[in-house]
This record gives sequence, C-alpha cells and structure tokens, in this order.
Amino acid sequence: MKNLLEIEHLSTHFTTEEGTVRAVDNISLRIRSGETVCIVGESGCGKSITALSVMGLIEEPSGKVVEGSIHFGDKDLLKLGKNELRAIRGNEIAMIFQEPMSSLNPVITIGEQIIEPLMVHMNMGKREAQKQAIRLIEQVGISRAEQIARSYPHELSGGMLQRIMIAIAISCNPKLLIADEPTTALDVTIQAQILDMLRKFKQESGMSILLITHDLGVVAEMADYVIVMYSGKIVEEGEVVELFSNPKHPYTRGLLKSKPIINQRQDELYSIPGQVPNPLELESSCYFHDRCDNCMAICRTDEPALKEITIHQKVACWLYEEGALHVHS
Ligand code: SF4
Ligand code: MG
Repeated sequence: MKNLLEIEHLSTHFTTEEGTVRAVDNISLRIRSGETVCIVGESGCGKSITALSVMGLIEEPSGKVVEGSIHFGDKDLLKLGKNELRAIRGNEIAMIFQEPMSSLNPVITIGEQIIEPLMVHMNMGKREAQKQAIRLIEQVGISRAEQIARSYPHELSGGMLQRIMIAIAISCNPKLLIADEPTTALDVTIQAQILDMLRKFKQESGMSILLITHDLGVVAEMADYVIVMYSGKIVEEGEVVELFSNPKHPYTRGLLKSKPIINQRQDELYSIPGQVPNPLELESSCYFHDRCDNCMAICRTDEPALKEITIHQKVACWLYEEGALHVHS
C-alpha cells in the first residue's frame, strides 16, 4: 500500500505569556491508502493539534508549525498557499469534530449546508446538488430526508447532527477523513452506529481515516495502526493487534488497564495516577516519569528516543534500551 499522508518531524508550538508550549513535538507518522490510523492519549497530549496542523488550521500567530513536513500525495501541505489548502480541505481531506454544532451554521438549513460544498467542490448545479444532498442524508441512515434537509441544526439531536457532518464529509469522496473524537459526545448505542457507518464508508470508498480518540474501545473497533501520544510526543506505536496484546510503554499499559466507564466523559476516564505534566515546565526527561512505576534514574534526566523494537512496534522508553531489555521484559 502506498502512503497517502506522510508527516515527518512535525512540531507545533504555542506562544503564551508564560512561555512556549510544545503541543506537538517532533512526531512522524504515515497513513496508507485505505488504512485507519488511530491517535490515542489523554486530553492535552497533542492529538487534536496534530490534526489541526494537517488541516492548516493552527491559529497564528500564537500557534505555529515550527518544523517538519506533511506530504499528502506529492504535495507538502505546509508549503501550500491558503487557497490551495482550502481547495484540498473539505474535498480531498475532510474533517469531523466532536461537536458538530461548532462546524454547522445555526441559521442555515441542513440541506443548504450539504449543498454548498457539492456546488463548490464537485461543480454540481443547484438542482443536482439538492438531489445529491437528499441521497447523502439517506445514506447516513436518516429517514424523512427531505424534512431533515429543511431543518435547522438546533432542531436535530447530537447523533443526527454527527450523521449530517459525516454526510458533508463524504459528499466529496475524500481520500482522507480526519475524525477528532467523533463519537465522544454520543451515547454508546449511537456511537456504535456511527462507527459502523464510518467503517462501511471506508470499505466502500477505500478512503483512509485518521481517527483521534481517548477511547481504547473505539481504537479496538476501528484501528489498523495505533499511535499513542503523551505530552506532545509519540511514546508507542504499532499494529493494533500487537499493541493491544503486547503493549510495551508503561503509559500504554496503564491506558489498557484502566477500565472505561460507559457514558463518562473524557477527563474522568483514566485511572492512571497523576496528571499530564505542565507543558511549560518540561525538562529533559521521560515526560511520564512522575507517573511511572518503572521509573529509573536515567528517566528523570534523559529523554528516551522512539525506537523500533519489533517490525510492528516502536516505543520510547528506557526499559527497552540495549542492555536494559533482558532485565525488564
Ligand atoms: Fe517509565 Fe522510564 Fe520508561 Fe519513562 S522511560 S516510561 S519513566 S521506565
Ligand atoms: Mg482533543
């Protein structure tokens, strides 16, 4: 399979009055055609900032991609002008967020909001776009499509709105769908339906998905490949089966051990003791050391690099450095 998206050494920083926050710190990842890659981690670990960097939606001047490249096909997205990027966004790359309301215009009908991108990106005339909008609404499992098309966002439930967002996202046959916590605000039944639908569209269209989630249940359902982020860095990555059956990084192990409680929101989910470190106070160390049961002296002073330990898995942890391996694994 060919790489569709290739992120190399991406760093995205934010300038605050207190100092610089390295929200994303030198990460590299690849997504092949037809593949689903999940980025998992607690809130504030850099998952969403990674997605926003790909979409060119980091708000300058406080935020800035300071290093790296993001190749989509043969284009480096970081080198494109605003207009070129806008042409790709919502067309070849589509995005859905946790809160559909934040992407929908409250005073424009659902139908109009589906029609607009069809006319802009797919060169459809109004009539054709209207028909296609109805088909798309039906495709995402909503009955009474015509009535729904005449509704305003506030008249629909959260689950319905997320279906509409998916309809808009798939309307232009994107090659890549970036979904940032798309089911986090929904109850479990609706969540399962939405994930099923995404899987189905992926199979039918061959699109790739970059799925951002804190929920390992979602990862298990959806991912081919998993990237675990902590404090702006990738601490472990691998094929989904490998990562779940043989997690290496103490953080990944902690995530897998902590049991999600159904219907609870993100911040309450994990039971790994301690908190993500203050991003302004990061010194050279393993950023997880305060919370790690395996912490050694070197972990407090030196940062472990992300290294391949099997062909399917990479980890950034001193436990797996040469010489330490036989003692700890
Ligand atoms: Fe724990 Fe050290 Fe590994 Fe960090 S490098 S996860 S502190 S053992
Ligand atoms: Mg987020």
